[in-house]
Amino acid sequence: MDTSAWIALGEKYIMSTYARQPLVLVRGQGTRVWDVEGREYLDFVGGIAVNSLGHCHPRVVEALKDQAQKLLHCSNLYWNIPQIQLAQLLVEHSALDKVFFCNSGAEAVEAAIKLARKYAKERLGPDKYEIITMRRSFHGRTMGALAATGQEKLHQGFAPLPPGFRYVPFNDLDSLKAALSPHTCAIMLEPVQGEGGVHVAEEDYLQGVAEICRKQGLLLIFDEIQCGLGRTGYLFACEHYGIEPDIMTLAKALGGGVAIGAMLAKEEVARAFRPGDHASTFGGNPLATAAGAAAFKALLEEDLINRARTLGEYLYYRLEELAHKFPSLVVEVRGRGLLLGMEMRIPVAPVVEACREKGLLVNGVQGNVLRLVPPLVVSKQEIDQALCIIKEVLEKISWEEGSCAYGQT
Ligand SMILES: *Cc1c(COP(=O)(O)O)cnc(C)c1O
Repeated sequence: MDTSAWIALGEKYIMSTYARQPLVLVRGQGTRVWDVEGREYLDFVGGIAVNSLGHCHPRVVEALKDQAQKLLHCSNLYWNIPQIQLAQLLVEHSALDKVFFCNSGAEAVEAAIKLARKYAKERLGPDKYEIITMRRSFHGRTMGALAATGQEKLHQGFAPLPPGFRYVPFNDLDSLKAALSPHTCAIMLEPVQGEGGVHVAEEDYLQGVAEICRKQGLLLIFDEIQCGLGRTGYLFACEHYGIEPDIMTLAKALGGGVAIGAMLAKEEVARAFRPGDHASTFGGNPLATAAGAAAFKALLEEDLINRARTLGEYLYYRLEELAHKFPSLVVEVRGRGLLLGMEMRIPVAPVVEACREKGLLVNGVQGNVLRLVPPLVVSKQEIDQALCIIKEVLEKISWEEGSCAYGQT
C-alpha cells in the first residue's frame, strides 16, 4: 500500500483530532526517519521533543528487549526494580526528592495539580486551591491540565472546565502580583514555553516569581515536560536560573521514545500524598521505566546536554542570520538550546510543507512560529543541511511574495 492508501484507511478508522502531514512513517534511526515509500527525512521535530536521543537509540532498544523478556507489568501493588532505579536517577540529578510515575505529560500535570491542592489545603488552609498559570502556556489536554492551559482557543467547546485557575501574561510580574488572591496556592509555568510559540522566561521575571512564592508560602510548579531533560542545554531548564521548584513535571523525552510521565516534588510537599490519594495502573511499569533509566543514562553519559547547548547556540545564530536576510518574512528567533522557534510574518504551514518536500521535517506552532526541536544527537552537518533547506524555502517564498507585490503595482 502506498501513502495515500494508508492515509485513506487511517481517516476511515481514526478520529480526526490532528491536522496530520501526509506522511506515513515506518522507520527511524538517529536524526533520520523513512516513510512507507522509502523516502528519507531529516527529523527536526523529533516526536515534538520526545526523541531527544534520536530514533531507536541502541541503549533504549536494548533495555526494552531485555526488560520485555523479564517483566512487562506487575501493578503498583508491588515494587519493581526499574521504577526504583529511574526514580533514584531523577532524584539524584534534580533538586526534588520524590517521584510519582504516570504515562504522559497531561497525567503528570494532573498529579501536580492534585498534589499542590492537597498540600495547600492541609498546610496553608482549607480555602487555598487556586493555581496561577500563564497565558500561551500548554499543560496538556485532560480536563485539569486543559483548565491550567492559558489558551482560550483550546478551551472552546469543552466547558465547564474544572475551576481554580487564573491566567496571567508570561514575563509580566505586575500582572502576576495583581492576580494573587487569598485562594492562591501555587504558580505553575514552563521556564521555556514550547507549544505557546517558544517563549523563554526572562531572568528577572523568574527570580521575581520565585521570590513571591518564597515570601507568600506559595508552591512553585515548573512544567518541564518539553524543556526539561537536556533540551535547553541544562538537565533541567530551571538550572539556567538557579531556581528550585517545589514540584516539577516531566514526560516527552523521559522514556527515550516510550510513553512515560513523572511528577517530582520536594519531600515536604510530597508527604501530602498518602496511600490511596493518587494512582495510575501503568504508571512506572517496568518496561517504560527500564527504557527511561537507559535513556537517562545515555543522556548523561553521551554528553548530549552540552551538545544541546553548543549546537543550540550554533543553530540559533545561523537562524538569526536567516532572520536578518529575510526581514520581510521573519520577526525573530527565540529559544534555548535545541528548543528554538522562528516567528514568521506569514503563516508557517507553507514553510513546513515546502521543507517536507525537500526532506526536512519541521513543525509549526501558533500558526506563525517555526519550531525546531531536533534530537540532541543531531550533528553540525545535519544542522547545516536543515538550514540550507530552510534558506531555500525562505528564498522561494520571498521571491514569490516579492513578485506578487510587483505584479500588483
Ligand atoms: C506536551 C506537553 C504537555 C502534555 O503532554 P502529553 O504527553 O501530550 O499529555 C504538557 N506540558 C508541556 C509543557 C508540554 O510540552
